Amino acid sequence: MKKGDLLYQGKAKSVYKTDDPSLYIMEFRNDTSAFDGAKKASLDRKGEVNNRINAYVMEKLAAEGIPVHLKSMLDANNSLVMKLDMIPVECVVRNRAAGSLCRRLGIKEGQALVPPTYELFLKNDELHDPFINDSHALTFGWATEAQLAEMKAQTLKVNTVLSRMFDAAGMTLVDYKLEFGVSEGRIYLGDEFSPDGCRIWDKATGEKMDKDRFRQDLGNVIEFYLEVGKRLGVPL
Ligand code: ADP
Ligand code: UDP
Repeated sequence: MKKGDLLYQGKAKSVYKTDDPSLYIMEFRNDTSAFDGAKKASLDRKGEVNNRINAYVMEKLAAEGIPVHLKSMLDANNSLVMKLDMIPVECVVRNRAAGSLCRRLGIKEGQALVPPTYELFLKNDELHDPFINDSHALTFGWATEAQLAEMKAQTLKVNTVLSRMFDAAGMTLVDYKLEFGVSEGRIYLGDEFSPDGCRIWDKATGEKMDKDRFRQDLGNVIEFYLEVGKRLGVPL
């Protein structure tokens, strides 16, 4: 499958048309950003590492019955995906307190969250991805009631599958963000699952192994992404 016109250049990935109107190519670039694009860098190998981790995770999720947009990995930096009409709502599950939850509610980082929390954010950089609820999504037409229910069910199912998978590999899945989209009236998990969009801590030491290394200038960002991949068994 060959790349056609560039459709969208995001902060970390680019989306291209293909010969098939129902398929896109998603290119994982080395560009990385934090704080809604305010902090930027290019990290050697990041695109490849995330593309490979994403393909591995999406295939595991598909095997567990979760509908995903990934068709196949094409090469080191590119994957073939279904064309989706993206729902502009980010679905976040948290197993441990970190990031904006701590800032908003004054919860101590690391506190276990039982049951895990489930939150929605509007995908809008200019507004800094504000916290929203179902009512906002319905009133403003970002998602229907049925879509909200399906997104929640799938996001929580992902938690069951991935928490077990990371735990078995000596890591804690602290939190993660998922995006969904629609094709022919059905919901699919879109975008990516990689250390860019989740928090992962070493189970033994508590060391951060995700994008917080970039956000907080902890160093060795890609070395830790590679370690995440290796522990999961991703060919890297
Ligand atoms: P951002 O838009 O936040 O800068 P990225 O750099 O990751 O993010 O760009 C990828 C873009 O592609 C995102 O806007 C995401 O919503 C969108 N996207 C992800 N999967 C699909 C898909 N299957 N079809 C269409 N768009 C998608
Ligand atoms: N996240 C993301 N993209 C966003 C916002 C959050 O991938 O635009 C991820 C983030 O990496 C973390 C989880 O969602 O794994 C929860 O993020 P949080 O709300 O704590 O926000 P942050 O502290 O990252 O601003």
